[in-house]
Amino acid sequence: MSDLNENDIRISVRQWLSKAWDPTMSLLEWRTLLVESRWAVPSWPEKWFGRAYPAWADDVVRSELLLAGTVATPVGASMNLAAPTIMKHGGDKQKQRFLRPALTGEETWCQLFSEPSAGSDLAGLGTHAELDGDEWIVTGQKVWNTSAHHADLGLLVARTDWDSPKHKGLTYFALPMNQKEVEVRPLMQMNRHTSFNEVFMTEARIPNDYVIGTPGEGWAVALTTLAFERGFGSLKKPRYSKQKSRVIDEAKAESEEHFKVYSWYPQRAGRVDLTKDHARTKKRNTDPIIRQEIAKLLSMHRIGEWTASRARAARKLGRAPGAEGSIGKLMSSNVARQANKTHSMIAGASALLTGPSASYDGIIAEILVSTPAKSIAGGTDEIQRNIIGERVLGLPREPSIDKDVPFRDVPRN
Ligand SMILES: Cc1cc2nc3c(=O)[nH]c(=O)nc-3n(C[C@H](O)[C@H](O)[C@H](O)COP(=O)(O)OP(=O)(O)OC[C@H]3O[C@@H](n4cnc5c(N)ncnc54)[C@H](O)[C@@H]3O)c2cc1C
Repeated sequence: MSDLNENDIRISVRQWLSKAWDPTMSLLEWRTLLVESRWAVPSWPEKWFGRAYPAWADDVVRSELLLAGTVATPVGASMNLAAPTIMKHGGDKQKQRFLRPALTGEETWCQLFSEPSAGSDLAGLGTHAELDGDEWIVTGQKVWNTSAHHADLGLLVARTDWDSPKHKGLTYFALPMNQKEVEVRPLMQMNRHTSFNEVFMTEARIPNDYVIGTPGEGWAVALTTLAFERGFGSLKKPRYSKQKSRVIDEAKAESEEHFKVYSWYPQRAGRVDLTKDHARTKKRNTDPIIRQEIAKLLSMHRIGEWTASRARAARKLGRAPGAEGSIGKLMSSNVARQANKTHSMIAGASALLTGPSASYDGIIAEILVSTPAKSIAGGTDEIQRNIIGERVLGLPREPSIDKDVPFRDVPRN
């Protein structure tokens, strides 16, 4: 293992591909083969569809798959959040049950964490589950759940013990979404997209085998998911080979469906790429104040990219997501805010115009109403500052009055 090098991996994958790749296969057939050959995520343990290679090997293999005109594992919460969380905290039964369909794309996941009165204070959540024979019965409401309308399974945190302090009485479940006791209602946002949902559970059922980790220890599992969420940063569309094949057609269709709800995410990040062109088009590129704002924005953006590269490099070395996740998240909010301000200064009042006759087909207006989401999703700016202050700088923790008392006695709305 220690003398494994990139070139050897590339040669092995190419040799395997020369025999295994068949463009007439369906996407599912191809991914099943990929999983069975243990090339889907080679950094995973040998027992779980991998080869115990170092984390950097995953990208090497992915690039070979692309070069050969094939595709890799699916994008989205299944591989970014569910699989790594289950890999870290799940028992053999859960790994057996959930990892393969996440790898092949047969099952998709959403994240069911936030509630109307438990967002930043996630551990204060009130959705509750009780064990009834070999099933848990869960009742409560979640909100802001991206892609819940087409997910097969939800990463759910629910309260299972009201007599323990708030962080101790939580359990982490895989909730089967396709049951009539789970109702998913879409939410319309101020940018007129509908990416999120409210999810109502009324005595929904979860098999006891679907507890991830140990009952009552769901908080540690949730922290793992949140760390991976901060780590995966911007959602990049996968690249596909130009070669024609059934696998590529089906993978493109899968990706298009998945990315529908994220079509406004580039605007949410502020569209830094448009600023110079925007200034030129509006003939504001010689205005010294606008130039100064653009220079500031581009510098911040570059620094953010370096922080993201640092996080990626740490991941490739197999390190757990660390402080650079919070620093990078905060930087991306600052970049989005500065981009919002810069586009507004360039456009003036016309920034408010929407529709095809507005400049950039209304994209500037969409930036103005989408960038605030960057400071909220995946943990707000203030929460990132708390994390950096407490865990990185070692500052005293925030005073808390509800941490050590039974959750039942904590005053709530
Ligand atoms: C684009 C987007 C996608 C999302 N996707 C999902 C998803 O898929 N699944 C999911 O479960 N949730 C999702 N969320 C929800 C998100 O995680 C929450 O909105 C977020 O955690 C904030 O919680 P809240 O909205 O309840 O705000 P609150 O927690 O009520 O915060 C309100 C304000 O108070 C501040 N504040 C709160 N506590 C503190 C404190 N201790 N110190 C200082 N300031 C504080 C906050 O920073 C904020 O400014 C998404 C949100 C967005 C915007």
